[in-house]
Amino acid sequence: MKSPDGTHESPCPGCGALLPASDWPEAPKYNASPACAAVSGELLGFEVEHAARLGYLHQLRIDAYGAQHVKPGAPRIGPVFALNGLYMYFERGSGNLDVRTAHGIMANSYDDWPQLTPPATVGSLTAYDVLHAGGVDAVESALLRWAQEAWEAWPEDTRELIRKLTVELVPERYFRR
Ligand SMILES: [Zn+2]
Repeated sequence: MKSPDGTHESPCPGCGALLPASDWPEAPKYNASPACAAVSGELLGFEVEHAARLGYLHQLRIDAYGAQHVKPGAPRIGPVFALNGLYMYFERGSGNLDVRTAHGIMANSYDDWPQLTPPATVGSLTAYDVLHAGGVDAVESALLRWAQEAWEAWPEDTRELIRKLTVELVPERYFRR
């Protein structure tokens, strides 16, 4: 939906970002406005351009975005994976390959995923803030703050559930601490 002046969309239903209108196609997996989905694509582009510096945050970026854009009615495993990735990064020191391996193990060993209800507010930072933080140093630190806020925005009982499920299903060798 466009605003009366035609230049802004309604806020992103996931993260609340109010962005210039975009022709970007809908992101079927995420509860995101087309403009926010476009920002997510641009952030991936920035990461690829600066892969040597930002590549280690690849999975964290995906999971932070997922944690902020949970689509109502989408498969329950989506937000579980997003929060699992955030937990493993911030509390167990594990990123990228360890998290993707954990996701594979979890998908193959369990199917009674809890229905997670996203919090009313998902953190003060959005993917747009990260993309426009400045140079690569500023983007790196904004991305880390954004992801941490996205994790901490979820209620403690949900995060505790994710910790328990992860430790139960994922072998310890995938945790760096
Ligand atoms: Zn958004």
